[in-house]
Amino acid sequence: MIETVVQIFFVVALILLIIGIAFKRRTDKETIVLPENYRELLADYVKFYRQLDEAGKEKFEKRIEQFLSAVQITGVNAEVEDIDRLLIAAGAIIPVYAIPDWQYINLHEVLVYPGTFNRDFDQAGSDRTIAGMVGSGAMQHVMIITKWQLRQGFINDHDAQNTAIHEFVHLIDKMDGTVDGVPEIILERKHVPRWKNLMDATISQMKNGGSDIDFYGATNPAEFFAVISEYFFELPDVLKTNHPELYEMLERIYKTGR
Ligand SMILES: [Zn+2]
Repeated sequence: MIETVVQIFFVVALILLIIGIAFKRRTDKETIVLPENYRELLADYVKFYRQLDEAGKEKFEKRIEQFLSAVQITGVNAEVEDIDRLLIAAGAIIPVYAIPDWQYINLHEVLVYPGTFNRDFDQAGSDRTIAGMVGSGAMQHVMIITKWQLRQGFINDHDAQNTAIHEFVHLIDKMDGTVDGVPEIILERKHVPRWKNLMDATISQMKNGGSDIDFYGATNPAEFFAVISEYFFELPDVLKTNHPELYEMLERIYKTGR
């Protein structure tokens, strides 16, 4: 009798153990990617997402999920919250949303810093007051972004500034081997000369007569491309009115013809 009870006990314990392992596996897998309220967070913070129809939203969510499963996001003296991970992924997907099968093969990790980070890092590709940076050398495949600027870029969506989009545009630009403002991987060769001329002409115009384009864009063509892309994705209608030629070229680059 006692033997039977012991046997039953072991069988039950074994079953519970198996269920436990299976359940843990499942929850582990689920926690890697999206938080439970991700739809709500996206709708609250990401204007681009809000403006999509239902099918478009679903596509956006899938792309975000893919991005977050492929790229590690690590806080450096900063707590990375669900909203930060979502906003980084949104900044990654917005520029390439209309480009099928896009993958950031040149990115493995995003480091999130609280406010500012020190200048001991290789400064190639650092931006403004170091709001973000696309790594080079030992930091190849790494992007650095500050939490404050990341959130600010999405909270204030009417100023044509979004640090996450800016940094991901540098990565897109870098995909062909050079960060030069010409994203040859997505811009057809026949349009390259026109794009270069348009960038140069606008930069001179900015230096000579001022412009509604953030002056940081006049630094060089690479910064121009990143800055004008922020403008394009944050305030498309305003850009279309003020700079129709730039708008048309950016539509070509990002395949957003609507
Ligand atoms: Zn930049």
